[in-house]
Amino acid sequence: TERTLILVKPDGVERGLTGEILRRVEAKGYRIAELKQLNASTEQLAAHYAEHEGKPFYQPLMDFMLSGPVVAAVIEGDRVIEGFRSLAGTTDPTTAAPGTIRGDLGRDWGEKVQKNLVHGSDSVESAEREIGIWFA
Ligand code: ATP
Repeated sequence: TERTLILVKPDGVERGLTGEILRRVEAKGYRIAELKQLNASTEQLAAHYAEHEGKPFYQPLMDFMLSGPVVAAVIEGDRVIEGFRSLAGTTDPTTAAPGTIRGDLGRDWGEKVQKNLVHGSDSVESAEREIGIWFA
């Protein structure tokens, strides 16, 4: 079995989509091992998004992620890392495939950052690193 770290970003929490997103995760057959809502700290976000430092969307992304509470979860299941990324859809919510979380529930809102509802780790190494950031 495998674990991944997912976040419902502030747009998802604000829009009341936490339940719908977790419903899709559970309906797919994954187990929620850890779950909490919190206000992210600048330190947590800097660690989480270290690979994006210096990119044009970095500061808008940090500001967005600090704009309201997030829901963090550890979910478990065979190939859950790939499985959740498939459930989430591609990064740009306007063009993410219908049937995915981003494709069904997200769109562009004319802002510098893509408000795309969720994050999911992209590898076993990132998952372990990110679980350490959000569930220390
Ligand atoms: P994916 O890996 O599927 O692209 P992700 O969430 O891991 O999704 P990253 O490339 O790691 O995406 O980028 C982190 C976040 O930064 C994105 O989810 C999105 O909110 C924002 N972002 C990424 N690229 C852009 C961009 N070109 N313009 C605006 N915001 C962006």
